[in-house]
Amino acid sequence: MHPLLKAFEGRAAATSGRGKDPVNEPMIRHWCEAMGDTSPAYTGPGATAPPTMLQAWTMGGLSGHTDRSSAYDELFVLLEGAGYTSVVATDCEQEYLRPLRPGNTITFDAVIESVSPRKSTALGTGYFVTTRMDIQADGELAGTHRFRILKYAPATTAPGPTTPAEDRSRAQTDAKAKAKALRPRPVVNRDNQGFWDGVKEHRLLIQRCASCAALRFPWLPGCNDCACLEWDTVEASGAGTVFSYVVMHHPPFPAFDPPYAVAVVELAEGVRMVSNITGLPYDKVRIGMPVRLEFLRVDEELELPVFRGSEG
Ligand code: ZN
Repeated sequence: MHPLLKAFEGRAAATSGRGKDPVNEPMIRHWCEAMGDTSPAYTGPGATAPPTMLQAWTMGGLSGHTDRSSAYDELFVLLEGAGYTSVVATDCEQEYLRPLRPGNTITFDAVIESVSPRKSTALGTGYFVTTRMDIQADGELAGTHRFRILKYAPATTAPGPTTPAEDRSRAQTDAKAKAKALRPRPVVNRDNQGFWDGVKEHRLLIQRCASCAALRFPWLPGCNDCACLEWDTVEASGAGTVFSYVVMHHPPFPAFDPPYAVAVVELAEGVRMVSNITGLPYDKVRIGMPVRLEFLRVDEELELPVFRGSEG
């Protein structure tokens, strides 16, 4: 790997960070409500925080943290200067060493743990950067949070210096790509083939466990409730409500026209799915709004289940 990049490994990304609030019951309650987690372990006397909240206690909010180091920014400047201008979060891993309880004071240190060799991916060529955060509760190590991003040069533009002729030709290619930008294709595999077969017939199919009859969505090989691998399907009635939504402004993506609303729709059958809301402007979407399934032909090859809302 490039020695300039290697030199970032081990550099601090944040030192002596401090959680903006101690571990507290209101944040735990909001989290559990949002996740639909009703475990009694997270309420009442002796309550602990859900382990997966680990990162929440370290977040800087809109005002940010003042204890970030410049290493991460310097690494970004270096990669962007070399043409790796795009970024995507790829995965995170957490380890839990002790439970967090209301009242615990949170401190943390973050380090750039590794910068990968240059990798080619479907998105483009770039470097995976892994940051490890060690999180302490009342001064004792409580868990670690590893966060990995890919900093990459989009596949349509090659990094490096170019001649004016190359620039012109690239601009033409980019304009063409933009004009023809297609929505991403769904990844169809053995586990979800049945769902997409249903979409072709304008049927929204939900998996039903053959053993305990629990419904599940998205499609999975096994039942989350009883681990049974046998299943059949039920067809959704098409009625649903907006359970939650976000409005996408950034990052811009050629196949989409921001701002647009992306919703989690709760189907009448009880399962939830992510989809688009059609039939009304993005700023008229509301939580609890009734919506109705329809099938949207996106292009020649792609048809998607979406949900139509109506104002008032
Ligand atoms: Zn089951």
